[in-house]
Amino acid sequence: MKVRAILGETCRYHVQSSSNPNRLHLVDLLEHECSCTDWTCRQRGYRERTGQRYHCRHIRAAREEFLNDILERLKEDQLAR
Ligand SMILES: [Zn+2]
Repeated sequence: MKVRAILGETCRYHVQSSSNPNRLHLVDLLEHECSCTDWTCRQRGYRERTGQRYHCRHIRAAREEFLNDILERLKEDQLAR
């Protein structure tokens, strides 16, 4: 599953659909939203049941990419000292 940060848009990612590789889902990590059907259908019920926010596979993939970016930058900062 490919994950690509959207240039100039903070914490927004395009994540490749697993069922259709030609399709991209839009993930907004700050708003905690994904454009996929899974997230759209399940997020409200999940939140009501658990009190937590639903992470579809695209949000999970974007969060991992975000974490990797941050860790890489922290490492670069450390090396630059
Ligand atoms: Zn999704």
